[in-house]
Amino acid sequence: MTVSADDVRVLVADVPDPEVPVLSIDDLGVLRDVTVSVDDHVRVDITPTYSGCPAMDAIRADVLARLAEAGHTDAEVRLVLSPAWTTDWMSDAGRRKLSDYGIAPPTGRAALSASSSAAVPLSLSVRCPQCGSPDTAELSRFGSTACKSLWRCLSCREPFDHFKAI
Ligand SMILES: [Zn+2]
Repeated sequence: MTVSADDVRVLVADVPDPEVPVLSIDDLGVLRDVTVSVDDHVRVDITPTYSGCPAMDAIRADVLARLAEAGHTDAEVRLVLSPAWTTDWMSDAGRRKLSDYGIAPPTGRAALSASSSAAVPLSLSVRCPQCGSPDTAELSRFGSTACKSLWRCLSCREPFDHFKAI
């Protein structure tokens, strides 16, 4: 084995998300797993942030291009749909960058109840990334891309994109 899974992970971790270029697939938690088999076959597992998210094709192409540049031509990117991506997988740095970019980060962390494995629904309070007011309203289920919804702040009246929580 000439390359470790950790090396490959470092190589592809900062592939930007096409939806929000300030975020990497590692920030988003989209990058799930990297494995390198004994014959140097590289496999990268990614999980889409939102089912039907067209960004995944671009991410797949970017990851393969990075690997090819580094000489890993025997590589595959596998789309892992289960377990489904949750906003809990986003790193704290990712949430910060998203807010700096003017997009409201997903609110709350999905907590698991002790008695069952059912996820507690995420808080519906979406804060305005401009003024921080929780007094906001959803204008449209789909924002600038399928992965975001369009919201408006009722305090400062600015519209903003909200990254959809699943
Ligand atoms: Zn506001």
